[in-house]
Amino acid sequence: METTLILLKPDCVTKGHCGDVLQRFEKAGFRIRGAKMMKLGPEILREHYAHIAAKPFFPEVETFMQSSPVIALAVEADGVIEKVRELVGPTDSKKAAPGTIRGDFGVDVMVNIVHASDSLESAKGELARFFQPGELF
Ligand code: ADP
Repeated sequence: METTLILLKPDCVTKGHCGDVLQRFEKAGFRIRGAKMMKLGPEILREHYAHIAAKPFFPEVETFMQSSPVIALAVEADGVIEKVRELVGPTDSKKAAPGTIRGDFGVDVMVNIVHASDSLESAKGELARFFQPGELF
């Protein structure tokens, strides 16, 4: 069994897509192990997005990710990391196929509804970043 970290980003929260997105994960048979609303600050964002921190678009991403609280989810299933990435679609919402979460609800390459861990290793680090051990069930 794998667990992955999902963030429902500010656009998901402010546009009222949280229920739709969560329903896709529940319909796929994933088990929710943790859920919490959080306001992300510059420190956690710089850690979480270390791989893009040097990119010219990073300041814009930082502003976007702080524009409203996010909802962090920990979900479990066999092969859930890859399965969630498939349901979510590619980074650029405009290139994401209809039927994927980003294809149906996202706006562009930055405003793209959710974050989802991309490997077992990053899931481990990201779950520890957003959840205390006692917050996962
Ligand atoms: P993903 O979230 O699909 O794993 P990345 O890890 O490459 O994608 O990027 C992290 C986040 O940074 C993206 O989800 C998106 O919000 C933002 N981002 C990525 N590329 C760009 C870009 N070219 N312009 C603006 N924002 C971007």
